[in-house]
Amino acid sequence: NVTEIYNFSAGPAVMPKSVVKKIQAELPSYKGSGMSIMEISHRSSLYVDMQNEAESDLRQLMNVPDDYDVLFLQGGGTLQFDTIPLNLARREKTVAVVDSGHWAVRARQEADLLPGISTYAAASGEAENYTKLPYSLNLDRPCDYVHVTLNNTIEGTMYRKLPDVKGNVVVADMSSNILAQRYNVEDFGLIMAGAQKNIGPAGLTVVIVKHSLLDESQNLPSMLDYVKLSKKHSTLNTPPVFAIYAAGLVFKQLLEEGGVDAAQKRNEEKSRLLYEFLDNSKLFKSPVFADDRSTTNIPFVTGDEELDRRFIKEADEAGFKNLKGHRLVGGMRASLYNAFPLKGVRALVEFMEKFETEIK
Ligand code: PMP
Repeated sequence: NVTEIYNFSAGPAVMPKSVVKKIQAELPSYKGSGMSIMEISHRSSLYVDMQNEAESDLRQLMNVPDDYDVLFLQGGGTLQFDTIPLNLARREKTVAVVDSGHWAVRARQEADLLPGISTYAAASGEAENYTKLPYSLNLDRPCDYVHVTLNNTIEGTMYRKLPDVKGNVVVADMSSNILAQRYNVEDFGLIMAGAQKNIGPAGLTVVIVKHSLLDESQNLPSMLDYVKLSKKHSTLNTPPVFAIYAAGLVFKQLLEEGGVDAAQKRNEEKSRLLYEFLDNSKLFKSPVFADDRSTTNIPFVTGDEELDRRFIKEADEAGFKNLKGHRLVGGMRASLYNAFPLKGVRALVEFMEKFETEIK
């Protein structure tokens, strides 16, 4: 008899209910055109105005300086693991990666597949099973940039401040905490994020890149070339129109709700509630070092795999959906992105308290 469900999915993930309702209401006829947003040309002014507005709202939300390009691309974070080094690893042909977890490892593996480009780990959290963030970097070998995963979606760690990169350019994978945590765009040469966690539907990848880092003469294959993509305002080919439209609605909603700073405050409140419970529980615990804990992705375990499975099953039946941890680490994971409501965390904590009492 579940009347309301709570969706803890790590991505694709929960979106604001008001946005989903707005999409539903205006889907048959976008702005009175008699056509849905999915059915109009990406060259029409109706579409172009929509994309421009989405870009300007995103710029406002993140305080993006004018000398940064904002690109709406496809291929997810994973394609960016190739596109970034192709565009930015030109001089030294070397990428220093901060090995803070699975997605940092994947970034490194992809860059290593590119002919002529090599990578090294500037630091690694592997010895601590990625439960603690590496902060002390060894950057003795020259590199074109340092790749940092600001929020480690699987391991549940988050950089609140950047490690000392000794003057090198920083490339940030912000996939799982873009718009959820305030960062200063000027600290980065490039920021990338798939939309499917804090923004909207999968299919859109946001890239924010400092224009002066790009080389006008690089002439890469067009869809991998930030210079060409930027010149064509991300419409070098047909863009993911629906995902950009939905993202634009989320940006508007977030502006109305006080922007990124307000979202961060809400995320801190939500995650604090769960962490406090975990730290006081005799059954559940957080495996992550306290100072490095993410506000958006919160893994937890009972220490007994059988009990974890039982908890996930009973939670699912009670309306707490997608709490199963990533297949690489097991246990549970609650993803509390921007659109996840505080009352959902309260309800989860109550459910966990009850579970803990009942299994005694
Ligand atoms: N980086 C991080 C931090 C992620 O969490 C993910 C996806 N979970 C990716 C990269 C890969 O993104 P995509 O699935 O969009 O390729």
